[in-house]
Amino acid sequence: LPKEFQLALPVMAQIEQAGFEAYFVGGSVRDILLGHKIHDVDIATSAFPAEIKAIFPRTIDIGIEHGTVLVLHQDNQYEVTTFRTESTYQDFRRPDQVEFVRSLTEDLKRRDFTINAFALKDDGEIIDLFDGLMDLQEHVLRAVGNPHERFHEDALRMMRGLRFVSQLGFAFEIETFDAINENHALLEKISVERIYVEFSKLLLGKFRNQAIRFLVETECYLYCPGFRYYGEALLRFADLKPISFATAAQGWTVLFEQMGIGQNLIRPFLKKWKASNDLIQEVQALHWGLKVRQEQPLKSWEIYQLGLENSLAVEALTPFYNLVPAETEVKDIYAALPIKHLRELAINGNDLLQKFKLKPGKWLKEVLSQLEYLVVTGSLANDDTTLLAKAETLLADVKQD
Ligand code: ATP
Ligand code: MG
Repeated sequence: LPKEFQLALPVMAQIEQAGFEAYFVGGSVRDILLGHKIHDVDIATSAFPAEIKAIFPRTIDIGIEHGTVLVLHQDNQYEVTTFRTESTYQDFRRPDQVEFVRSLTEDLKRRDFTINAFALKDDGEIIDLFDGLMDLQEHVLRAVGNPHERFHEDALRMMRGLRFVSQLGFAFEIETFDAINENHALLEKISVERIYVEFSKLLLGKFRNQAIRFLVETECYLYCPGFRYYGEALLRFADLKPISFATAAQGWTVLFEQMGIGQNLIRPFLKKWKASNDLIQEVQALHWGLKVRQEQPLKSWEIYQLGLENSLAVEALTPFYNLVPAETEVKDIYAALPIKHLRELAINGNDLLQKFKLKPGKWLKEVLSQLEYLVVTGSLANDDTTLLAKAETLLADVKQD
């Protein structure tokens, strides 16, 4: 067993000592079998949530209604979820009720793809009820059971499938693919938030191009906010170099370039996806930086405005435009900036107000930002005498306008 699982063995042992079954399940088992890095270790158990809470002194309720309790053990935490079935699905999304059961088989049957339906025992035995090991070896994504039924139960599974294509480079088994083709319209019932999570992961996958092609081919893209008229643009995006994005913001930036979504449409577009303000601002910055960078190398003023991280993120996108990344140059320019923030300017608004005895107004912001520009670009030394003297001549110009 790999280290991450070894660390969780005492948790498994305690559940078993209390008379219940416990298995490692989900993505971590799949990823270990693939030799990939794993992030979180999930445990499935025959114990009910209350029984788990009685066993462990430190737990957090993170989804009791779905049967999930977070167990804190030493410096780690484990999602421990009761075996469950998701019996009646009436609206193509989430089950009406989850029913806790004592049977592992029932729990594995409700999982989406065969490669996600393994259970791993603490002695290393793999329980593989649906020939997932074969699919893993053959790089196949196959729905557990009847794919039509499974996508009717929860249409998000189609988007999850596309996301796994992107992450793993697997291909859909033919019936699973046909079922996505036929049932794509069920995605209409799925909340934007859930689609957003999967699409974001899709953007970051190593096999993004293949996944985007399937997204268009199966017409699932029609149910992604704002994509309806951009099938062609998505296909162009899928023809770009197969370089992975380090962040979702980078992915959106390059996608918007292909779609011809300009600076002022970024916010409304991403709002439809319910993206966070942080992401929106990051995409706006990268989009601006990329436009500049396609014309000429980033200079001190742009690097100052973008900050180091976003400047480097822009450089990371240059290969898509057949440019050579200039990371070292960017780092050097950033390190040599006379100031990194406006607050580091030797004078501030108050200094200007006091010196000129004027009421605050537009002039103040204008003079300050001109001084900022001159200092950042190295045209003016950052000391108060120099800046106040320059402010005087700038002010004369501003007044004339
Ligand atoms: P990741 O590595 O991104 O976490 P994952 O496969 O672990 O991928 P999760 O969303 O963490 O995905 O879900 C854990 C497991 O729960 C999955 O491996 C799968 O067995 C099951 N699962 C999750 N969502 C669904 C769903 N919508 N339908 C059926 N089974 C699901
Ligand atoms: Mg997971």
